Amino acid sequence: MAAIEMKNIVKQYGDGFPAVNDISIDVADGEFLILVGPSGCGKSTLLRMIVGLEDITSGDMVIGGKKVNDLAPRDRNLAMVFQNYALYPHLTVYENIAFPLRLAGASDSEVDEKVRDASKTLELDEHLERKPGNLSGGQRQRVAMGRAIVRQAEAFLFDEPLSNLDAKLRGQMRTEISRLQKRLGITTVYVTHDQTEAMTLGDRVAVLKRGILQQLASPRELYENP
Ligand code: ADP
Ligand code: ADP
Repeated sequence: MAAIEMKNIVKQYGDGFPAVNDISIDVADGEFLILVGPSGCGKSTLLRMIVGLEDITSGDMVIGGKKVNDLAPRDRNLAMVFQNYALYPHLTVYENIAFPLRLAGASDSEVDEKVRDASKTLELDEHLERKPGNLSGGQRQRVAMGRAIVRQAEAFLFDEPLSNLDAKLRGQMRTEISRLQKRLGITTVYVTHDQTEAMTLGDRVAVLKRGILQQLASPRELYENP
């Protein structure tokens, strides 16, 4: 079963041409799907419709076999990682990762076990008492991912997570995200306008242009058949 099914998704703002125009994509369980295309092609809008931050004009969004068109973001069990990471600056790494568990009323021992597991996976276990302001961009990104892991989210969604980083760090983070995603085997949808990211990170790449899905193929197929 596909983890995420987008069925004839349309988003119309006002009366111009649709921002997202009849897009259908099945994202397989554990797949890393890239949405790529120039600024304004509709990739963020599509991602926001998966998360539930934007209403769908027509079509169906199905997550884990369940139609979610009318579900609020909190009921979709997805984890979105934004480019600014949205960490709480006054909380330690530990408490940042623990936050969703505390919100859900988990016991201290459950919180402790899950935070320690996640921070080991993410190689953050030596930084648990630090605050986000004292971390590198890459470490902050991993804290944001840690929050997603402890929630056992159905999928990761990334919206241009590396676009604020310098080229060197971007390269490192690309490797790191790819490695982590493979290790965790979690379904991922990743928005970027960067061709290199698209061609190196994804299992498949969806190329969008003016709201239309132009191509949906593996990086290799795209490389051989641009
Ligand atoms: P991308 O993420 O590929 O840069 P977007 O999804 O942000 O593209 O935007 C797709 C199109 O929808 C653009 O033409 C943009 O101007 C338009 N758009 C995005 N958000 C809104 C909005 N809230 N209201 C009206 N138009 C919007
Ligand atoms: P509230 O104060 O009601 O929690 P929020 O807008 O902060 O309002 O979040 C509402 C719900 O949406 C959260 O409980 C969470 O499950 C979900 N949510 C918020 N941010 C994200 C995100 N980045 N990724 C996935 N789900 C999110």
